[in-house]
Amino acid sequence: MNVADSQRIDLSLERMGLDRAESIENADVVVVNTCVVRQSAEDTATGLLGRLNKAKRNDSSRVIAVMGCMVGPDQTNLRQRFPYVDVWARPQEFQPIIDAVGARTGLSTEGCLTNLTPQQPDISTFVPIVHGCDKFCTFCLIPSRRGREMSRPVEELVDEVTRLTDRGVKEVTLLGQNVDSYGHDLQPRVDLADLMERVNDIPGIERIRFLTSHPNDMSRRIIRAIADLPKVCENVNLPFQAGDDRILAEMRRGYTRNQFLERVDEIRETIPGVTLTTDLIVGFPGETEAEFEQSVRVLELVRFDKVHSAAYSERNGTYASRKMPDMVSREEKKRRLRTVDDLQAQIQTRLNADLLGLEFDILVDGETRGRLRGRTRGDKLVYLTGGGPALGETVSVGITGASPWSLEGDLRATQSQKELVFTK
Ligand code: SF4
Repeated sequence: MNVADSQRIDLSLERMGLDRAESIENADVVVVNTCVVRQSAEDTATGLLGRLNKAKRNDSSRVIAVMGCMVGPDQTNLRQRFPYVDVWARPQEFQPIIDAVGARTGLSTEGCLTNLTPQQPDISTFVPIVHGCDKFCTFCLIPSRRGREMSRPVEELVDEVTRLTDRGVKEVTLLGQNVDSYGHDLQPRVDLADLMERVNDIPGIERIRFLTSHPNDMSRRIIRAIADLPKVCENVNLPFQAGDDRILAEMRRGYTRNQFLERVDEIRETIPGVTLTTDLIVGFPGETEAEFEQSVRVLELVRFDKVHSAAYSERNGTYASRKMPDMVSREEKKRRLRTVDDLQAQIQTRLNADLLGLEFDILVDGETRGRLRGRTRGDKLVYLTGGGPALGETVSVGITGASPWSLEGDLRATQSQKELVFTK
């Protein structure tokens, strides 16, 4: 979500006539887009602000703006801590930044916030479809920082994706803190399945992804749409966060372990070949060893293709930070994190080894250290051995190498040699 927001503010500043600076130190305008999901992310932002203090002392005309989740409704504290910051902007509220830059530089701000579709988007681009979150997980700061859910109208999104395809985009990831709740606040009410159907009809789009799902809101209709719509990739990120019912209740996730596992079964039964990824927190306040073991059991049972694991990090302003003392020691959290990461590495080693010799279509979307790379529809990262296709081409590769984190593949057919057929 932050990458998408950064692209949009970047475009609006460019429209005002600003060019990219070579470094932060010699930029006239610096916008720091912040994330506070964990303490380490917030520390990165505050560390950068420390560096900018010096830059501002050297040249006080420079504009320093901070946006994103660090900026809550009450900024008194932040203004005291960082008096040299010129403007504080809440997530997706670009106007105060544009106004401050306009006032300082004398540049016109007219029209620079309309149609913020990136001019030179990546082949695979993020499209935020719903902002904010109406859930109140006790460990999470997002609802208080990003506000209540607000869906963008279907027509606006269809226009944006169409413009993106005109600029070379082949794959879009529809984004929301809880993407499955898209549309409930629109009139007439629609859902993610309706939007996927519309995006699926846009010529030029080859692949549609979506992030992040919530087990309670991933309806049968959405699951069916993933199975049926040819361009929607068979890959679901379904966070379970904890495997024990008491911890899930303390987190206020709104489902039990069995309900989560039933949803996984439903997804796997409906969508052939689906890959599943998840998010997991270890060391939530009061999590006992036995309760942690329940999370490990879920990993063993489901065998996810990828797990975003994190040690619980107390966030000021959350219900958990007020009511639940952070009791699991730092060392113990580290040990639990190592345990799940080691287990997951073993699982991914096996899952990826099973793909050796199989053939997949990958969309070539970049290059790392001279090697072209792309992703399967199931979001497996594949490095191509040998050159050949161009960026943005969908090619067939035979899998020749596998590690827990990525695959290697030989080119079997390029886009010109094969016809892209969208069927399921
Ligand atoms: S659903 Fe996600 S974004 Fe919303 S409160 Fe829970 S963890 Fe935070």
